[in-house]
Amino acid sequence: MLINDISVVIPVYNEADNLTELYSRTIKTLESISEKYQIIFVNDGSKDDSLTRILKFSTENSKVFYLNLSRNFGHQIAVSAGLEHCNAKCTVIIDSDLQDPPELISELYAKHKEGFDVVYAKRRKRKGESFLKKLTAKLYYRLLKRWVSFEIPLDAGDFRLLSKKVVKAINAMPEQNKFLRGQIAWLGFKQTYVLYNRDVRKHGKSGYSYGKMFRLAFDGITSFSDKPLLYVSRLGFVISIFSFMVIVYAIFSHYVLKETITGWTSLIISAAFIGGIQLLSIGVIGEYISRINTNVKNRPLYILDSTNLSKEN
Ligand code: UDP
Ligand code: MG
Repeated sequence: MLINDISVVIPVYNEADNLTELYSRTIKTLESISEKYQIIFVNDGSKDDSLTRILKFSTENSKVFYLNLSRNFGHQIAVSAGLEHCNAKCTVIIDSDLQDPPELISELYAKHKEGFDVVYAKRRKRKGESFLKKLTAKLYYRLLKRWVSFEIPLDAGDFRLLSKKVVKAINAMPEQNKFLRGQIAWLGFKQTYVLYNRDVRKHGKSGYSYGKMFRLAFDGITSFSDKPLLYVSRLGFVISIFSFMVIVYAIFSHYVLKETITGWTSLIISAAFIGGIQLLSIGVIGEYISRINTNVKNRPLYILDSTNLSKEN
């Protein structure tokens, strides 16, 4: 039975200094929406005292729940864990570093009430993020958009509201390499957005290392597009044709023009060139194989250490 009008899933990784403000602002917004709400904090292996604070909130307020993961599994998995446990007519995913203003939940909810299943928060401005991050994000999403066969919203992260239908569909998607914003876009349903200014992170530093960011970026592409494989094989084809022409020319010049092409430099350059392309291609194929491997293992996505919730879906 759906007992709540709205549920909020909050992934937390070393956010102790942000939690109190986040909590009070979120509660305030939710109370203005409905008294039937729940908040699910997912502690993703924080090393500071985030968990202590979350436990305190949950003892003070019976509408606050927590999932404490056994270690750091990463943002996408933390959110997925929350989605598997929420019980409400709609669920909001929000970051815990106050970059996403909790007050916007009211606007997301209003759109949901108009009949939308997915309401994502689209960034009008991104404050306090490095030029490099903004540029790479911009290029990446434009590339992704060209490579996938469905609409992927630009300038939107995971801050969004999902209806029960969408949450159910997401929970039924078996992939291990989560790229939620892509999965949600792939699902379809009635989608819309509200605009907002993304604030600067209040305290602490980003838990998304470059490594994690790259992994997410690769997951986004490999989960939804086979284009890299296509391009790699096309590239191989083009290079083969080119080298065939070079061979023909070399034979021609040796026997007909009586000039043998010599040169250490050209040899090394072409060997290095082909070597580079081969490694790159194997790498691309490897990325796909590694994902098959992960999915075949069929491990649980995450391990729970402790919780005060039962799985509802
Ligand atoms: N986060 C998480 N696990 C991680 C990294 C981040 O649960 O391994 C959470 C983090 O606490 C925050 C959200 O995911 O609520 C977004 O992370 P962050 O702000 O570090 O990413 P950025 O905004 O820099 O992209
Ligand atoms: Mg952040």
